[in-house]
This record gives sequence, C-alpha cells and structure tokens, in this order.
Amino acid sequence: MRPQRYLRPASLAEALQALGVANGRGRPLAGGTDLIVEIREGRRAVETVVDLKAVPELVGVEFDPARGLRVGAATPCYQLAQHPVIRASYPALADVASLIGGIQIQSRASLGGNLCTASPAADSAPALIALAATCVLAGSEGERRLPLEQFFLGPRRTVLAPTEVLVALELPPPQPGAGSAYLRFIPRNEMDIAVVGVGAWLQLAGEEVVAARIGLGAVAPTPRFARAAGEALIGGPLTPERVAAAAAAAQEASAPIDDLRGSARQRRHLVGVLTRRAVLLAAERAREQR
Ligand SMILES: Cc1cc2nc3c(=O)[nH]c(=O)nc-3n(C[C@H](O)[C@H](O)[C@H](O)COP(=O)(O)OP(=O)(O)OC[C@H]3O[C@@H](n4cnc5c(N)ncnc54)[C@H](O)[C@@H]3O)c2cc1C
Repeated sequence: MRPQRYLRPASLAEALQALGVANGRGRPLAGGTDLIVEIREGRRAVETVVDLKAVPELVGVEFDPARGLRVGAATPCYQLAQHPVIRASYPALADVASLIGGIQIQSRASLGGNLCTASPAADSAPALIALAATCVLAGSEGERRLPLEQFFLGPRRTVLAPTEVLVALELPPPQPGAGSAYLRFIPRNEMDIAVVGVGAWLQLAGEEVVAARIGLGAVAPTPRFARAAGEALIGGPLTPERVAAAAAAAQEASAPIDDLRGSARQRRHLVGVLTRRAVLLAAERAREQR
C-alpha cells in the first residue's frame, strides 16, 4: 500500500494523536532512510506517514553535567558526530554516528530510526547499550522509560506500541576516568551492514577498572547487553588475562547464525577480537581524559 497521507505535526501531542487516529496504519518517519526503502519495496504497508522532524522534543541534543546527555530520537547522525560533548565524553556514540551509511545517510538518519527498525545489526544499539542508554517512550497513556537492552523483542520487533514513539535517548553523566568505543567488522570499507558490532564502556580509577559494560550487535536475534563480559574486567588493572576473560564472556553471550554475510563460527571469533580491541580503545580514551 502506498501512503495516503503525509502529516508533519509540530508537537508531540499532535504526533501521538495522528498515530492514534491512524489506528495501527500509521508509521512515524524520521530520516526515512529505512522507512522509505521499505515502503517502496512493498515490505511495509503504511497509510499515514507521521513525520517527526518538526516535533521539538524529538530533535536536538541537550547536555547537563549533572543529568547527562539527552538526544532527541529524530536528531540526524551528523549532528551527533560533530557535537563537542559527544566527541569528548561519549566517543562510542560519535563512532557510531560517523559510520552509519555515508555523509548523505548521516544527514538524515537518526538513532530513533536505527533502533526502531530493530535490525539485529543496527550499529547504534551496541554502543548505546554500552553507554547505559535509557529509552524515553511516549504514547497516549503518557511517558515511560526503560533501559535500551529491554527495548528489543526480536528481529524488527520492539516494545513500542503502534501508537507510541521513541522520544529520546538519555545517557548518564560522564564519569571521571571513563572512556568508550564502538567497533564493527564489515567486509567492505564502508556502507555495509555489520557482521559483528561491539560497544565498550569502562571506567578507570588509576589503572583499576571499576565499572564496565559491553554491548553486542549482529550476533543474536536482538542486540545484547553482555553483562558478564563487563564484569570480567572489573576489580583490577586491564591485564591481558582480564581482557581475554571479557572476550570469552562476550563470545558466551552471543548466539550467532550463519547467513550470507558470515558464518556463526566467524562471527563468534570476531566477537572475541572486537571485544578485545574495543575494550583497549575505550581504556586508551579513558586515559586521555586524565
Ligand atoms: C545506503 C544506506 C546505508 C546504511 N548504512 C547503515 C549502517 O552503516 N549502519 C546501520 O546501522 N544502518 C544503516 N542503514 C540503515 C538506516 O540508515 C539506519 O537504520 C537509520 O539510522 C534509520 O534512521 P532514519 O531516521 O532514517 O529512520 P526512518 O527510516 O525514518 O525510520 C525507521 C523505522 O523506525 C520508525 N521510527 C523512526 N523514528 C521513530 C521514533 N522516534 N519512534 C518510533 N518509531 C520510529 C519508522 O516508522 C520506521 O519503521 C543504511 C541505510 C542506507 C539506505
């Protein structure tokens, strides 16, 4: 079905009302880099397209050192990649925003769209899980918040009701001595879908790791929070043994499949390699903060 209506509400209330009236046959649009392709290819039937780019709560970046970072779900990636606070204090997010698609895609594509498409290989998810992102959702019943790792239900399925929108992502305040990184493996140099993606965040006190989180992409039906992998790093310096234990725990947390982009065996191997590299890069960035 070709869309019958295009609406561009100027407030969140209007956007929610439009989706309510569409009664399950409406779909939010942010950058359109996934949605328009899906509609054109007949993979998604949409009667009413509700463009979110004019809703103030959904666009822009706010930072408060005490409260952390709030990213409007429809904010285009190029704004995130260039944001000085994101580059300095949330570098895994800057990594992601500068590698999704190319410059043209980044000028439209949003984190909200990337997460709501719910591809297991979406690049933003592992990085944002490592950064302990909280989703802010809004619907006719009001607002609710949940950790990003609880947002995904399966490939292309999320907890969002058809009349709800993802309003923003909230990230905790930057911690002293913390660093983060996102790395992915793709067969080409750019413009490809991750075969594996790993996000790492850690906090150093001196040389001791005092907190760490690892997120994984493209190795399970949904992006995963590899809790045990982060925990394996905590409690001492970043020794090769500790890093190897984290890599092994990340491999344990993954459940990859064979598909045309890679075998399960290759993916499991890559989880180990990328976890090691992402942890070491996050630590290097943490030391640069001192
Ligand atoms: C050439 C090309 C290269 C790409 N490269 C990459 C890549 O390297 N890595 C990667 O991860 N992806 C990539 N993608 C996929 C796509 O660009 C991203 O997933 C992008 O982030 C989607 O964001 P968008 O704002 O364009 O979403 P849209 O297309 O507007 O929306 C995507 C889906 O999310 C829903 N949606 C959007 N915003 C909201 C919201 N706030 N609340 C509720 N639902 C919402 C829409 O209804 C739709 O179903 C690529 C796409 C193309 C065409």
